[in-house]
Amino acid sequence: MRPAAFDYRAPATLGEALALLAAHPGAKLLAGGQSLVPVLNLRLAAPPLLVDLRRIPELARSVLEHDGALTLGAMTRHRVFERDARVRAAQPLAAAAVPHIAHVAIRNRGTIGGSLCHADPAAEWPAVTLACDAAMTIAGSAGTRTVDAADFFTGLFETAVGTGEILTAVRFPAWPARRRHGFAEVARRHGDFALVGVAAAVDLDERGAVALARIAVFGAADAPVLAQEAAQALVGRRGEGAAREAGRLARARIAPRSDHHASAEYRSELVEVLVRRALGQALGVAPAKAA
Ligand SMILES: Cc1cc2nc3c(=O)[nH]c(=O)nc-3n(C[C@H](O)[C@H](O)[C@H](O)COP(=O)(O)OP(=O)(O)OC[C@H]3O[C@@H](n4cnc5c(N)ncnc54)[C@H](O)[C@@H]3O)c2cc1C
Repeated sequence: MRPAAFDYRAPATLGEALALLAAHPGAKLLAGGQSLVPVLNLRLAAPPLLVDLRRIPELARSVLEHDGALTLGAMTRHRVFERDARVRAAQPLAAAAVPHIAHVAIRNRGTIGGSLCHADPAAEWPAVTLACDAAMTIAGSAGTRTVDAADFFTGLFETAVGTGEILTAVRFPAWPARRRHGFAEVARRHGDFALVGVAAAVDLDERGAVALARIAVFGAADAPVLAQEAAQALVGRRGEGAAREAGRLARARIAPRSDHHASAEYRSELVEVLVRRALGQALGVAPAKAA
């Protein structure tokens, strides 16, 4: 399998990269190449120019602020969450999700920005950003703008990043002291894309009851979805009964489709079980095991 011929440029600044995109309609950005290169090799895309982002230092910069907020440059590799204890401690839900992404070789090269922009419906990062209420910074010729994760994923492999724009960073708000998390997914083999997965962040009040919950389900629709009714039903509650009811509510509201990987019925069952399991971890009513 060989890609169609293309030109290649590796700019040193964000401004140069934006100028290349403006001058070459149809150009594609290259980050870690872990999704784009297979697409090129299969000739599902044949861009005339690849603009490699790897030599732009500001896209690889990460900042942990004093208040605990974490801003990751779009070119941050998945693997940072396995290598950097400070980053892991700052965002425990992301730390729980990253080991489920592919294999070490892919996590070494693949980037968080690439994953968010590729927007595979079964990918872990989009769901994590939704559950954590993260915000994406997008640069274009007219300047930069910020888009909440809830508005970023607009459809199947579709995002709010427009033609000629570059995702530069993702910002995770500080992790509150009373936030708990759960992560669960089912894949055919470890490292495969999930059939269905759930990333949950649950804020407890001073009595240990749920004050606020964000439950992101992925692999069950064209883009990750927040199970809002299920999250609302948790407020003021605790314990296994609350997790069970949330699982049932999420299942009732999300209608997966069948494909060659799994039937709609099976995915529906997984939504209920995995919401219950992830919330069980967050609420401390189940062992913290991933499927
Ligand atoms: C065998 C295999 C298994 C995998 N399993 C999983 C898995 O289980 N879970 C999972 O989540 N992922 C999985 N992946 C994908 C992997 O996580 C990729 O790293 C990720 O999807 C894309 O990141 P990348 O940096 O390689 O982006 P690239 O492949 O370089 O780019 C992907 C797309 O995003 C665009 N893009 C990249 N960066 C930017 C930017 N800053 N601004 C705008 N557009 C941009 C590119 O133009 C391209 O269209 C797997 C990949 C392989 C090969």
